[in-house]
Amino acid sequence: MSLLTVEGVWKSFHGRPVLRGVDLEVSPHEVVSLIGSSGSGKSTLLRCVNLLETVDDGAILLDGDEITDPRADVDDVRKRIGIVFQAFNLFPHMTVLDNVTLAPRQVHRVARDRAEEEAHDLLAKFGLAEKARAYPDQLSGGQQQRVAIIRALATRPRLMLLDEVTSALDPELVVEVLGVIRELKQSGMTMILTTHEMGLCRDVSDTVCFLDGGVLLEKGPPEKIFGDPDHARTREFLRSVL
Ligand code: ADP
Ligand code: MG
Repeated sequence: MSLLTVEGVWKSFHGRPVLRGVDLEVSPHEVVSLIGSSGSGKSTLLRCVNLLETVDDGAILLDGDEITDPRADVDDVRKRIGIVFQAFNLFPHMTVLDNVTLAPRQVHRVARDRAEEEAHDLLAKFGLAEKARAYPDQLSGGQQQRVAIIRALATRPRLMLLDEVTSALDPELVVEVLGVIRELKQSGMTMILTTHEMGLCRDVSDTVCFLDGGVLLEKGPPEKIFGDPDHARTREFLRSVL
């Protein structure tokens, strides 16, 4: 069964459609990349999946439950989906450890000792063991983004949504974050990511989706999309970014 199903999703802002009947299936452990020009609807699609936006039409199912049902428990859905944005959005007045343990403790009611133990394990796994007591402004951009990803992982989500997580970083710091994404893939995490980094996209994706003006124009394995796309629009986009 699909872990996530997006069925005929429409979303407009001020009467202008931004998503036009998007269909997407994501299997457990699959890594899906969304590519397309700025404004094509990539972030909006991720925000709809995390219920940060309500859809106008269509449905989204997570593990078979319709999460776009108005009666769905939004907090419960957000517990099952981790999201990380371009801007790391760490709480500046809290240490790394407190940032990472906040949601497990407050939302999931995990005891402090256990939450901290798990946080230390995750920090160690991603090379940040010594930074547990540091504040965000004492870290590089790449380290902050790694902490943001770890914070999202700390609630043990079923699905991770990564929206341009390398875009705000200097090129030399991008590598660190790519390493984390590769690790996550190896650990079997199901992910949907948006990116302008075609190298990353080719490298980690099982499936690449090209969005064009809110339409999911084509999808396929990276070799197909980058090597032999069906649509002229896809070729045009790839020529402009590669
Ligand atoms: P992408 O991530 O592919 O660059 P977005 O999903 O951010 O695209 O945006 C798609 C379109 O929707 C853009 O034209 C954007 O201006 C518009 N949009 C996104 N969010 C809002 C919003 N909250 N209110 C109004 N317009 C929005
Ligand atoms: Mg975006």
